[in-house]
This record gives sequence, structure tokens and C-alpha cells, in this order.
Amino acid sequence: MSIWNKYCTKNINESLKEEKHVDVLIIGAGMTGLNTAYYLKDFKNIVVVDANEVGYGVTLGSTAKINYLQSGIYRKISKARTEAVASSYLKSQKYAVGQIKEITESENIDCSFRKVPSFIFAYDEEEIDKVKKEVTFLLSNGVDIKRKELPKNICAFDSYMVEDTYIFNPIKYLKGLKNILEKNNVSIYEKTKILKIDKGDEEYVCSTEFAKIYAKNVVVASQYPYFTMPFMLPLKSYCEKSYMLVSRVKKDGMFTCINTQNPIYSCRFYEDRNDIYQISLSESHNIAFKSNDKYHFEQVQKRFNLKNSDIVLKYSNTDIITPDGLPYIGEIKENLYVACGFNTWGMTNSVLAASIISDDILNVNNEFTKLFNPKRFTLAHIFYLPYIIFSQAKSFVGSKLFRNKSWYSSRVFNMREKGVSYGVYFDEAGRMHKVINKCPHLGCSLIFNETEKTWDCPCHSSRFDVDGKCIKGPSNYDISVKEKSTHEE
Ligand SMILES: Cc1cc2nc3c(=O)[nH]c(=O)nc-3n(C[C@H](O)[C@H](O)[C@H](O)COP(=O)(O)OP(=O)(O)OC[C@H]3O[C@@H](n4cnc5c(N)ncnc54)[C@H](O)[C@@H]3O)c2cc1C
Repeated sequence: MSIWNKYCTKNINESLKEEKHVDVLIIGAGMTGLNTAYYLKDFKNIVVVDANEVGYGVTLGSTAKINYLQSGIYRKISKARTEAVASSYLKSQKYAVGQIKEITESENIDCSFRKVPSFIFAYDEEEIDKVKKEVTFLLSNGVDIKRKELPKNICAFDSYMVEDTYIFNPIKYLKGLKNILEKNNVSIYEKTKILKIDKGDEEYVCSTEFAKIYAKNVVVASQYPYFTMPFMLPLKSYCEKSYMLVSRVKKDGMFTCINTQNPIYSCRFYEDRNDIYQISLSESHNIAFKSNDKYHFEQVQKRFNLKNSDIVLKYSNTDIITPDGLPYIGEIKENLYVACGFNTWGMTNSVLAASIISDDILNVNNEFTKLFNPKRFTLAHIFYLPYIIFSQAKSFVGSKLFRNKSWYSSRVFNMREKGVSYGVYFDEAGRMHKVINKCPHLGCSLIFNETEKTWDCPCHSSRFDVDGKCIKGPSNYDISVKEKSTHEE
């Protein structure tokens, strides 16, 4: 349950029931999917499908800063690739910030879009040098960044500010886009999951539970594109989880801030009628290595010095991290596109993905196509490979052998019956909820998230509710006991 949940509407579109023939099928109606549909709406016959509903993926748990000041990203890219590549990335992010502003303003989308200053800061002495390097890079690339004290009571040894950055409510933005798209004859089907993509003679054949979609082009905007095995995403990325606390604050200056190293301290504010909320994020980590959600939420609370009585929401979210800090965007097979690996900066990168992919489909040159080539395998990827293989192995084996139950309350336990592992949770009313404790994606065992009451996969971050419904991929299947036939045990 995130701060944006209440903006999800009750008006969910019908699922797809009949065969369709289209120019472009977009799988996923998050920031990437709907922005791509927006860029193509005047030129192509498009269908968008989402397994859940518009915005109900990683976008729902985003802090939704629209920002090119992205922690230590330019230092990371300069090291992993070159400074020239980092400069191109900065250019792409500034372009994307401008694009979101233009779409929001020209379409008059009511999404609490507003300009706010953003800070990058050193949390301790050791970090000062890293912040300086980031700032030096930004200055040498023409960014107007100035030394300025953080306006809030966060310990900062040094801090710098830019002014041309924005925040918004991503769900209101997507609802606005949904309206515009539907007025332009784009069909959006919710509760419609793509289960398989096959290459036919002239087009792709994409199967849902009830119907087939025949598409000349397919855009996989599902955040973790697991049906595209040749792309080998698990060997080119890892999943990072972060924890957020939303607290009510007194009238305060609106700004965003982030430091440049772990532990990450990031926050922004959101004004809802007369209330102001602070969204504080910290404890970001590779999901392979830590799993005690309760502990991580406590750490965020301590770091931001938040009172229990002010906290209104707690939730976590995961995004895909790439070895060189650049997303994977573009064509991976003829007329089959992916956009993922946004390194927790998907507000800008989803718009960029929309621009690159739509230009490719329309045969228009785009200066950023080469930079984000999803098929790239650079020295940084080779260097990172042992770490990624180790994390994958650690999370798979660890999920089986060391399911640390010490942090589980007495309401949760695991059991085996006739060779099948089950996870059991008793809710506050004493009702039993039983699921098959095996992720249908690659078979990892699941960990119960006591705070959010979900079964989470420690390998690639699929999530299931207490009754086994898949609420986040890459898994495409549920783990409900009743629906056992839907997943291969
Ligand atoms: C903690 C956290 C904080 C963040 N904060 C920021 C921030 O401040 N600024 C920023 O720029 N970025 C931020 N990000 C990153 C950003 O939120 C994401 O990168 C972005 O929302 C991803 O959008 P998406 O559309 O690619 O994916 P999603 O929003 O996950 O959308 C994918 C959609 O595909 C659907 N889907 C999946 N599988 C199927 C299938 N088989 N068939 C049909 N549909 C399917 C899902 O239901 C989902 O709706 C943050 C990320 C995290 C984890």
C-alpha cells in the first residue's frame, strides 16, 4: 500500500476477450507502457494490456522525483564506461525531464506536477569527496548547481542545489494519460496478462488466458521482461529493494534530496489538500543479501528521526540495477522491444524509452538509441558478472537452505506436504492463508514480508499476496493452493 494507492480508480477496464490484430502491442501500463503509447498514438494502431491495472507495478511505489540529480550516477557511469557516456546520459535525463513537463503542461494533466529545488548532499565526512566529484562533473557539463544548506534537519556535511527539477503524483499522471489515449482510440485492457510471445511468419502471436493478439511490433514494458530469455537479463542486472516511510509533517519547504552512497538517504514531500507528507527512503540493498523487512523499516525510521505517531505508511519497492548505470532500452529481436534496468530513475528513463522505441518503430533517428542498446555487453558487464552470478546463486540457495525464520512472528510458518513446500500465514482474525512456497519464475523459495503481508522472492523480486495472487513480476503465475494447476511445481 503506497501513498499513491488511493488515486488508483475503481474504474478498471475490461480484460481482453477477443482476438486482436495490431501494429503495436504494449505489455504493461506503467510509466514505460503508457508513455510509449502516448508517443505512438497518432501514428499506429495500438493495444496496451496490463496484468493488473494502470500504474499498479513499480510505478505505484515510486517516490516519483523527476530529476537528473541522481545520487552518484554520473560517477558510476564515468567509472564503468567513460565521462563522455556519462555526459550523454545527463543530456538524455535533462531531455526527459523537459518531455514530462511538456506532456503534463500541454495536455493539462492534473497530477500535482510542480517545480521544486533538489539537493545532493554528503551525509558524513567520508562522502564529501564523492559529492564534490559529482558536482564537478555537473558543473563541467553546464549544470547550474550551487552550494546551499539543506533546509531540513538532515545531517549534511556539504550540500548543493539545482532548481530545474520536478515532482508529481505518478498515478494521477498515468490516469491522465489513460484518458488521453482512450480518446485517441488506443485500447487499454486491464487484468490481461500476456503469458507467451511466439514469433509467427509475419508478426508476433501473444497469448493471454482468453485470447491471442497478433502484433507487428511488441513492446515489453513489464519492468522485468522475463519472456525474452535470449536477452539474459538475470545475468546483466540485479534487483535492489528500498524501504519508504510516509510521515505527516508540518508546513515545510518543498524540495527533494539524496546523498551519493549507501546508506541512501532520499526524501521528497507531497501536498494533499491541507496535509503535507514526507516520503523518506533508505536501506537500499541488493535483494540477494538481506531480507528482514521489519529491521529495515526500523532503520529508516531511525535515520530520519521519525516519530511513531507521525508515520502513516510503510512500504518497500524494487527496481532493476545495471552494471554500467544505464538502462536497457530498444530492439532485442526484430520488432521486439524492451525497456528496463532504470536504476531507480524510471520517471525520466520511461519517457526516454518511449521516445527511443517509438522513433525506432516509426523509422526516425534518435540520438540516444545507441547509448541504451539493450544487447550491449561491456567491460563493466564482464567485471560485474561474478558478483551477479554470486548474488543469483546466493539468493537461490539461500532461499532454500537458510530461510531465516527468526524474524517471523508466530503467525507465519513453512511446511512440507507430499514433497511440496507451503507457506502459511494466520491473519489477525485467525484465518489461515496457505500458498505454495515456490516462485513460479525460477523456483526460489519465498520470504514472508511481515510489514506488508506479502510473500516476496529474494531472487528477482516477484511478490504475492497472502492468498498467492501474483502482484509483481517477473513471475507470471500465482502460487495459490487452489490454483496449483496454473504453476509448474
Ligand atoms: C523505491 C523506489 C523509488 C523510486 N523512486 C523514483 C524516483 O523518485 N524517480 C524516478 O525517476 N524513478 C524512481 N523509481 C523508479 C521507477 O519507479 C520505475 O523505474 C518505474 O516506475 C518503472 O516503470 P515501468 O512502467 O517500467 O514498470 P511498472 O510500473 O512496474 O509497470 C509494468 C507493468 O507491467 C505489468 N505487467 C507485468 N507483467 C505483465 C504481463 N505478463 N502481462 C501484462 N502486463 C504485465 C505490471 O502489472 C505493471 O503494471 C523508484 C523505484 C523504486 C524501487
